Amino acid sequence: MSTAAAISTPRAQGGISVIRISGEDALSAADKIFQPVSCKILPSEMEGYSCAYGKIVNGSEVLDDGLVTVFRAPRSYTGEDVVEISCHGGIFVTEQILRLILANGVEAAGAGEFTKRAFLNGKMSLTQAEAVMDIISADGSAGLRCAESLREGSLFRRIKKVSDGMLKLLGSLAAWVDYPDDDIPAVEEYEIEAVLEAGISDLDKLLSSYESGRIVREGADTAIVGRPNVGKSTLMNLLAGCERSIVSDTAGTTRDVVEESVRLRNIVLRLSDTAGIHDTADRVESIGVDRARKKLDTANLILAVFDAGSEITDEDRELAEKCRSRNAIAVLNKSDLEQRFNFSEISENFRDSVTVSAEKGEGLERLTAAVERLYGMSGFSPDMGILANERQKSCAAKAKQCFEEALSALRSGATFDAVTILIDDGENSLLELTGEKASEAVVDEVFSRFCVGK
Ligand code: GDP
Repeated sequence: MSTAAAISTPRAQGGISVIRISGEDALSAADKIFQPVSCKILPSEMEGYSCAYGKIVNGSEVLDDGLVTVFRAPRSYTGEDVVEISCHGGIFVTEQILRLILANGVEAAGAGEFTKRAFLNGKMSLTQAEAVMDIISADGSAGLRCAESLREGSLFRRIKKVSDGMLKLLGSLAAWVDYPDDDIPAVEEYEIEAVLEAGISDLDKLLSSYESGRIVREGADTAIVGRPNVGKSTLMNLLAGCERSIVSDTAGTTRDVVEESVRLRNIVLRLSDTAGIHDTADRVESIGVDRARKKLDTANLILAVFDAGSEITDEDRELAEKCRSRNAIAVLNKSDLEQRFNFSEISENFRDSVTVSAEKGEGLERLTAAVERLYGMSGFSPDMGILANERQKSCAAKAKQCFEEALSALRSGATFDAVTILIDDGENSLLELTGEKASEAVVDEVFSRFCVGK
């Protein structure tokens, strides 16, 4: 493989920048541009994990001074010889040094090139490589813990357990089908069933935690909806812990969609407090109402607020109708007032309901618990190794489907040959998931989403 270099730190002014060179010629390329000051030896003579101070030079011209750190194959991030140059963190100086390295026969690294090399050199599985990207883009502690646990190999091990079981089964099936007359012990149907059932159950657990993991990583796009004056803004302020949107007694004063992110334990809600969804003649207000309608259609979580101190209205019924088969929680607000709201009339449209008094700050814990129930958070831990993206999910789903088909083929008396083919298909999906048997196109697609320099 060729030798490649890229700036690994952000393209912005900062204390230092790091330029990484990886490949067979990394050390000799560094020799050409580095003049040691702290020692007498060039990078190619330095030991792995060692560091030297010196000047970065283009012939007799000094571009900068900085540190060179040497990693020797296979003990480096990529598994190849790697040199990292730490220079001053100016955009211009960093780019000049990179240009100088590229002028010395080194290629510019593509997106995710270093992590891709690490994968191709067997330093990590594909799921671990994908976790590297998730670590970089994590914006909350739970999401970061999910990604760290993946990088450490938690998901890989869960998949490997299923995959190893199936491989062993395929081995004995192949031996038995190929040499039925030899002394190979017959594979019993119940043994095949047991392995398939265990694999299906493991994959099922993985797949069912996917949505929880996604919500933990990405947060839930949340719409707070309800007719005017039910207390949406007050609820939003309670959630956000600060006065964010206008609270007022005049109906329809929240004229636009106000956005804010709040954290309910492990889950980040991206809130939008919308103008009440109701018919209005006011033009400015109607723009807000339109947006609220759109928000209601696309939101991942709907908090439908009702005034429990008033009788149910047609608008309430209409909103409840829109919440049918959605991720909707009914929030019965104003629990401090005399209760007049007949919730049972619309309760079947909601996945859950809670009573709160937004104004008195009561019921936040109940609301948090309801959101957690909705996303199946009980038993969820960021460390358990969960499917991190659609690619992984679809591989796991396909594998599970193949094993289910194999199981029903077996039960309906199909030949071991036919069953073997189905198990083999499922196994291939698992190997694609971990990257052990992923096509070049799949690998390229995964790394194309990385940033340059990682
Ligand atoms: P929105 O139009 O749905 O955003 O409603 P607001 O948040 O502006 O609240 C409308 C009115 O209801 C305000 O006067 C609030 O003080 C009042 N309100 C909100 N929550 C509660 C509550 O839990 N109890 C009582 N008694 N009043 C509330």
